[in-house]
Amino acid sequence: MKQEKIEKEYLIFTEDGKVYSPEEYKFKEGEEDFKILVDKEALGIESKGGSEPEYIGHLKKFGIEWEPMSDSGHMRYGPLGEIIYNLISDYSRQVVNSLGLPVYEVHGTNMFNLDYKPVKEHADLFGDRLYNIEIDKKKFVLRYAACHQQFAMIKDWQISYKHLPFGAFEIADSYRYEQSGELLLCFRLRKFDMPDLHVFCKDLEDSKGWFLRLHRKAYESIKEIGRDYVSLYNLTSKEFFEENKEWIRQLVKFEGKPVLLCFYPKGKNYYWKLNIEYHIVDEMKRPREIGTVQMDVGNAERFDIKFTGPEGKEVRPIILHTALVGGLERYLYAIMDSAVKMKNPMLPVWLSPIQVRIVPVSERFNGEAEKFADELSKSNIRVDIDDRSDTLQKKVRNSEKDWVPYSIVFGEKEIGSASISVRSRIDGKVEPMQVQNLVKMIQDECKGRPFRSLNIPKFLSKRPIFS
Ligand SMILES: [Zn+2]
Repeated sequence: MKQEKIEKEYLIFTEDGKVYSPEEYKFKEGEEDFKILVDKEALGIESKGGSEPEYIGHLKKFGIEWEPMSDSGHMRYGPLGEIIYNLISDYSRQVVNSLGLPVYEVHGTNMFNLDYKPVKEHADLFGDRLYNIEIDKKKFVLRYAACHQQFAMIKDWQISYKHLPFGAFEIADSYRYEQSGELLLCFRLRKFDMPDLHVFCKDLEDSKGWFLRLHRKAYESIKEIGRDYVSLYNLTSKEFFEENKEWIRQLVKFEGKPVLLCFYPKGKNYYWKLNIEYHIVDEMKRPREIGTVQMDVGNAERFDIKFTGPEGKEVRPIILHTALVGGLERYLYAIMDSAVKMKNPMLPVWLSPIQVRIVPVSERFNGEAEKFADELSKSNIRVDIDDRSDTLQKKVRNSEKDWVPYSIVFGEKEIGSASISVRSRIDGKVEPMQVQNLVKMIQDECKGRPFRSLNIPKFLSKRPIFS
């Protein structure tokens, strides 16, 4: 690994088309995150980080944690975590379906036989993190993304140039044999779920246009959660860079800040030309790759994927690989990393498993509280009711502990009333509010985002304590 690092060449590329060596580049104000990326990737200087990161404790409250009875690096999600997971899956699907091209969702398997030449070749190119298993004396590799399945399927499709471009999509369980010392919950995993999109394009020009669109989408997605990326552009040839400099500059211009270029050592038969890794810099001041886009010019040939061109000849498509919002767990990592920076950490309202908690002042009001909760649920809001016999203070405290964005104390005064007192988690303030305004506020906060109903009993007394 170290050897390879020395052979790679790093340069900084700016919006005005200039290149600098990382050693001579003068970082400007606002480029602190970019400097962290350059330090780590190009200069080998990395923040050591501290003790256990804070977000791990927070994830536990949603039942998101390691599964100790599996291999290292495998996660589990309890019922609350499952709502979050499902919403992120829905969101990843929503993003690919908003691109403006047909996207065919497929579903496949996770192990591929190394006796097949394309599988073996692809595995050899991937390198040393293969998760292998042996069954009936046959060797299988667990897929490291959705590529294997989609390529193995799409080679059998009859495709005309008229069908291009199109996308193929799967939320694929994916496996990488990461070193046990490097595993990090929600980030570096041996098993993860990749919302993997491949865009099949008819030629280089077509693929460049779509690459740019995917690039914009990746950015949109991270900006929506109030974050920004710093990017590493991996390239396999200087010639490709020189010939496509103006296009690459367009990508950089869209970022509005410099990027780090990394040229891979010559002489290997790479199947890709450009691979952008989008990093956030996390609370521990480490760059963390979330999303990627890659231009693939080799796998169509390797897997025998072809389309019929206008003159009836067989042509190989160019394939763009992307996890636009990042692996599902990594997207959650970015969300949690943003949460821990807040005064009162919380998830975005659309991702909060419980969005409103009704806290009856005493058990006497449980029945009326239920009616009120059911009214709110009709507006696609996940509501629950703390009907337990605890004190009011304890119930309010629990609501805070559970990161519920809005809590409503419910008593005599609230029965049939259009006005209620709402405690907002974001600032801890209690304010009187019209019920319809609360509904409107939540709907605005969740606008354009997927919704899932509550998948657990609405009464807290009816649920086990999950964690
Ligand atoms: Zn792929």
